[in-house]
Amino acid sequence: MTPFNHLFIDGVMTPAHGEKDLPVVDSFTEETFASYRSASVLDVDEAVVAARRAFEGWAATPLAERVAAVRRVAAALHEKAEALTTAISREVGMPRKLAARIQVGAPIAAWDMYADLAADFEWDSRVGHSLVRQVPTGVVACITPWNYPLHQITGKIAPALLAGCTVVLKPSELAPSSAFLLADAVLEAGLPAGVFNLVHGIGSEVGEALVRHPDVDMVSFTGSTRAGRHIAAIAGDGIKRVALELGGKSAALVLPGADLAAAVRATLAGCMLNSGQTCSATTRLLVPRPLLGAAEAAIIDLLSAYRMGDPADSATRLGPLISKAQQRKVEGLIAEALAAGARLLGGPAAIPSHGFFVPPTVLADVTPEMAVARDEVFGPVLALLAYDEVEDGIALANGTDYGLAGTVWGPVTPATLAVARRLRAGQVDINGAPFNPAAPFGGFKKSGIGRENGRFGIEEFLEPVSIQLPAAFLENSIH
Ligand code: NAD
Repeated sequence: MTPFNHLFIDGVMTPAHGEKDLPVVDSFTEETFASYRSASVLDVDEAVVAARRAFEGWAATPLAERVAAVRRVAAALHEKAEALTTAISREVGMPRKLAARIQVGAPIAAWDMYADLAADFEWDSRVGHSLVRQVPTGVVACITPWNYPLHQITGKIAPALLAGCTVVLKPSELAPSSAFLLADAVLEAGLPAGVFNLVHGIGSEVGEALVRHPDVDMVSFTGSTRAGRHIAAIAGDGIKRVALELGGKSAALVLPGADLAAAVRATLAGCMLNSGQTCSATTRLLVPRPLLGAAEAAIIDLLSAYRMGDPADSATRLGPLISKAQQRKVEGLIAEALAAGARLLGGPAAIPSHGFFVPPTVLADVTPEMAVARDEVFGPVLALLAYDEVEDGIALANGTDYGLAGTVWGPVTPATLAVARRLRAGQVDINGAPFNPAAPFGGFKKSGIGRENGRFGIEEFLEPVSIQLPAAFLENSIH
């Protein structure tokens, strides 16, 4: 593996010139297992200049070649699956068994999925006498978070490259390993110089320099609503296109007549996955008031299954959080909710002696005004709320600043689908229907702007151009 101190600029592994050495911390042992040098503002400039220089050639490269290049990256990533799993599991704390499938297997498969979709994409279409072309937006700054590092990098880089854009990636400073390994894969795949560039460092320094760079045409950002708002303001000032995948406070809405046991099991699993550090986690369980007691009993029965421990141990179901800071933030929000009148279900659980753990936490007696019912916690914390009429349940589900995801549990009737249609969220699952990587993903309100995944993810990096054809061109089939 390339030592953790290189950037990748203009097709070359190159030393970073920033002033900071940043640690990569194992979230279970709490030890620093790698460190790397941050990029300087000058490094950022070189990366953007390289991407700009490469843009015209890459945009003009035949689609079949771009598709083949992306498939070669996927193949090179396959070779690194083991190293990716180890690094991500240590950084993020997700149990290794789950990380292998969700953090590594799924994103690598997505590289191939995007290649398939691009090969079938309608790049040119006709609207009356106009030829409408889909052309690449240009140089894209991709800024990604730590919770599913390779997944979020993939959701930007693969479709952007297929669209014909060139990219500069700035991954999370807390979980940079997958980006280092991706740079290795790009090098092995032999992509033209400057098409993919990688810089590392702190968001407010390196990330912001990238967003401000005048040669960046688009910023594709996934992360907190706080940083997204700031980035969008800077991008707005430069009239840059911006795509934002931000936070969430997703509801699981249980309707009368639903399979309550299945709803509780799946909601708890959705909330606890990756120790609650999932943007689309179902963190609010909304049940009809008469079912409250049964829901509480079902939750208490299930809580002990979320065994905390070493992420490398195959018996571990709940790993640590990413950092001490995140652990303290989540503990603070739980304490605040308890002080405001929430009740802990199942009692307090002992946590391992090291690692940034927060036990699986379900809070009953939560009211919609409490922070734990409104704000993204990003920890293993589920809020249980009761509602009276279905209309109240829908209003509760839609009643936060976010609109990323949601689930509806109900009988197999048109009425259940009608409720699902009324949720103001980008992804709505009925009765535990599985995630579909080809379906659009993104949010309403403060959950973001734009959509990723599937062909919608490719469209995100394209601009439509209309060429009006005169009659003589049409008569001679020149279109
Ligand atoms: P974060 O906003 O702190 O950081 C995300 C990235 O932005 C990092 O690379 C960081 O260095 C960079 N950054 C921070 N400030 C910046 C600035 N001023 N200018 C430029 N770059 C800057 O988020 P995080 O803590 O890494 O991730 C957790 C958040 O991400 C949660 O809110 C979660 O909901 C959200 N998220 C959303 C989705 C989605 O698809 N909607 C997916 C995953 C995570």
